[in-house]
Amino acid sequence: MPQLKLAERVTRINPSMTLVISAKAKAMKAEGLDVCSFSAGEPDFDTPDHIKAAAKQALDEGKTRYGPTAGEPALRQAIANKLHRDNHLDYSPDNVIVTNGGKHSLYGLMNALIEPGDEVIIPAPYWVSYPEMVTVAGGTPVIVNTTADTDYKITPDRLREAITPRTKLFVLNSPSNPTGMVYSPEEIKALAQVVIEADIWVVSDEIYEKILYDGATHLSIGAVSPEAFEHTIISNGFAKAYSMTGWRVGYLAGPSELIQAVSKLQSHATSNVCTFAQYGAIAALEGPQDCVEIMRQAFAKRRLAIIERVRAIPGLSCSEPQGAFYLYIDISKLEMPSLDFCSQLLDEKHVAIIPGKAFGSEGTARISYATDMDTILRGMDRLEAFVKAHS
Ligand code: PLP
Repeated sequence: MPQLKLAERVTRINPSMTLVISAKAKAMKAEGLDVCSFSAGEPDFDTPDHIKAAAKQALDEGKTRYGPTAGEPALRQAIANKLHRDNHLDYSPDNVIVTNGGKHSLYGLMNALIEPGDEVIIPAPYWVSYPEMVTVAGGTPVIVNTTADTDYKITPDRLREAITPRTKLFVLNSPSNPTGMVYSPEEIKALAQVVIEADIWVVSDEIYEKILYDGATHLSIGAVSPEAFEHTIISNGFAKAYSMTGWRVGYLAGPSELIQAVSKLQSHATSNVCTFAQYGAIAALEGPQDCVEIMRQAFAKRRLAIIERVRAIPGLSCSEPQGAFYLYIDISKLEMPSLDFCSQLLDEKHVAIIPGKAFGSEGTARISYATDMDTILRGMDRLEAFVKAHS
């Protein structure tokens, strides 16, 4: 066997810690252990029937062949319509590429836009894949730490301070994974002003836009003004709102030149997204939306239950999330590295949560409440016992 010398771009990145912990929890379950898993960022609902029916019909109609790399024209049109209807963004189908999930849309974007020397501003706690994608593309992630004092949101001043002549892109994620925080329209407008002044790009990852609580509203940064629109790229997908994680359908929207570049890369990597899955996605956007609301209401109930339980545990605290299905907890009083906290919790109590370290933050951990109420109640009993034992 020849010497295996891996490419540097691979050795510079780490595997996704969330996927590693979810996989360990799944393996423990497979061994017969009673694991309460709060690790996955995945709704526990089945994909709504009308979406499955549309994909089945597409299969029956023989929509099983290669399609255009950038996506089925009908889906690109449906996405453009959705962006207009829901987000007040005026894109044509040429401004949209269908990708293998939101993850792949961001991966395509980084590779089409970022080159060595380019800096990309990422507020922490961040979704695990952002810095790694920037690194793979050869760019430099510039991490801006945020704390509970600002609800884990980057302020316009902090953004301005982080900008240098090398800054190319700012990554905005609202509602946020891992914190569940939602930027208010005023906060979005203030960030847009900084982006415009500095003349940099912003990518708005809006994958949790439909999962909001307590009257919170989602404003897409591109809708703030025509100038903001010119600086904005949108990443989104079907996984979270429609419980379609395994379907692998997402999209990127932005200037047509950028979309053509991402399409060129995709044409040599994955080609089109699974053709019949795209027909399911059309049904998701154009069919009834009550399924989204039903799931949101279930998350809302669980959110209240889990906040109440965590706040009742001496030694733990949490900010109140207004979106997504994550609770970001402060474990700093226990004075344990977040990785040790989470791995001991999994080993001793069979409860899986994700250490803040995975999101570039310490003294914190993420609990995903995209799971049933019984698991939530049992898991929180165990978390309480664990914290008591280690306090
Ligand atoms: N962006 C954020 C913030 C996420 O949490 C996720 C998934 O966990 C994604 C993007 C990608 O989702 P998918 O590739 O499943 O569409």
